[in-house]
Amino acid sequence: MTKTNSNPSTQPIIIAGGGPCGLLAALILERNNKPFILFERASLAKLCANVGSGYDLFPTAIEILQDRLGLSLGEFSLKYQGLEMMSTSGKKLRTISMDNYEARVMNRSDLQNTLLDQLLGKDWKSKHINDTETVFKTRNGIGELRCEISVVDYDQAESYDHVTVKLDDNTEITGSVVLGCDGIHSRIRHKMMLSKLRNIEEDDLEFCNVNVWWGKAEVKNDIDFSGFLQGIQENQSKGCMLLGSRKRPGSVYLCMGKNVVFWALSIKSESPPSKSSNDLTRRGGFVLSDSDKIELEKVVSNYGHLMRSIVKHTPSSAITKVGLYDRSKMDSFYSTGRVVLLGDAAHPQTPFMGQGVNMAIADAYVMATRLSSQPILEAIKAYDTQARRASVHKVVKDARNTGNMSVSKNTLLCHFMKLGMRFLPLSWMFESMVASDKSNADFINEMK
Ligand SMILES: Cc1cc2nc3c(=O)[nH]c(=O)nc-3n(C[C@H](O)[C@H](O)[C@H](O)COP(=O)(O)OP(=O)(O)OC[C@H]3O[C@@H](n4cnc5c(N)ncnc54)[C@H](O)[C@@H]3O)c2cc1C
Repeated sequence: MTKTNSNPSTQPIIIAGGGPCGLLAALILERNNKPFILFERASLAKLCANVGSGYDLFPTAIEILQDRLGLSLGEFSLKYQGLEMMSTSGKKLRTISMDNYEARVMNRSDLQNTLLDQLLGKDWKSKHINDTETVFKTRNGIGELRCEISVVDYDQAESYDHVTVKLDDNTEITGSVVLGCDGIHSRIRHKMMLSKLRNIEEDDLEFCNVNVWWGKAEVKNDIDFSGFLQGIQENQSKGCMLLGSRKRPGSVYLCMGKNVVFWALSIKSESPPSKSSNDLTRRGGFVLSDSDKIELEKVVSNYGHLMRSIVKHTPSSAITKVGLYDRSKMDSFYSTGRVVLLGDAAHPQTPFMGQGVNMAIADAYVMATRLSSQPILEAIKAYDTQARRASVHKVVKDARNTGNMSVSKNTLLCHFMKLGMRFLPLSWMFESMVASDKSNADFINEMK
């Protein structure tokens, strides 16, 4: 084994994982001249691939990215102007204006690209994307991105004055802190919980009885739903929610890009999909084969014309299926000594409160900013507080409950949900989303 950089005075901060959380933490460290090395299992090209997955951004993440970090959100996200409620056959039920709400929508790949532009310089694609390089120096030379390499383990000195990570090429590297931004299947978390729990199975991921298909379909003039969708596109920054009827449960969400519709369909399921992947740009899901798509077509044969057409016109290679998981054990700390969990590694959750990436952004901002301005152990203590953990756990539970309601087959519940979505005021519907963002707002406000 090669052992590198064991001199405590030059130890970098080590980041495991280059999803939104890891890249944002890296950017803040870079701007504060704090040396770091980010290890990412995927290639640079894969890291920012567009596989059609999107995020909603709420006020706190918007404030962090736009106001505190000066990123031009207009270049890679759209402000929501409204929400259409429709039946799955495309009948409009209700249009809600969202002019007064600060919420934006963006593609995961656009966020990743923007963060990489900031870290490596705007010309990184022309310089690096097609060559075989895997190590990339950041713009001001303070940090390093190492791709196609996984963190597999860590060792923490008893004195807690440094921490050493082990990599899958059999090398080790010593740093001052390890930030575990390695997503829902975090190796850093696994190691941390081994040292904290008597029974590691208590920390297993828990299937939430919801499976999701999501995909992107091109909207061309010659396809049967193009007129309809182009109608929505005139008001491009509208989200669109499709309601099944009492007999056709399931929740569908659509979002328009330029000549493309992004969609997601969730259904209740007793078991997760039989296949999965390691690909976190696909959120651990697998790409459909043509025969898998036939299964999906059977599911939507129950739905209205619009939903059937959208699925028909989405190639199987552009559809991902994934089971949704969170963790039922939610009272664990997010840190031990100099090792810290952030984003999905700390608190995986179903997407029904739209908070996964928003919390990952808040975690990265708070931890990296504190590490840039406070002594390390003090910064970690201020990050991993009981108050933050409690408010995060409430959101994770709310997300699970909202998901269960959205896909419920209970006739009465479906009926009430349908009535609620048709008639309840937007402020009421938005209340839970806004309330869930309060955890992030409080978290960053504590830094003042
Ligand atoms: C179907 C679905 C829909 C979703 N929709 C939304 C939504 O609308 N809004 C929202 O806010 N959130 C949504 N989420 C959640 C969101 O995707 C996550 O919360 C967010 O991506 C978390 O960011 P992260 O950086 O913590 O982790 P990730 O995005 O998972 O990134 C982790 C990174 O670590 C790398 N990695 C993993 N292991 C290692 C290792 N051992 N060594 C080195 N690198 C490693 C991975 O390759 C990856 O690049 C959704 C999730 C799913 C499953």
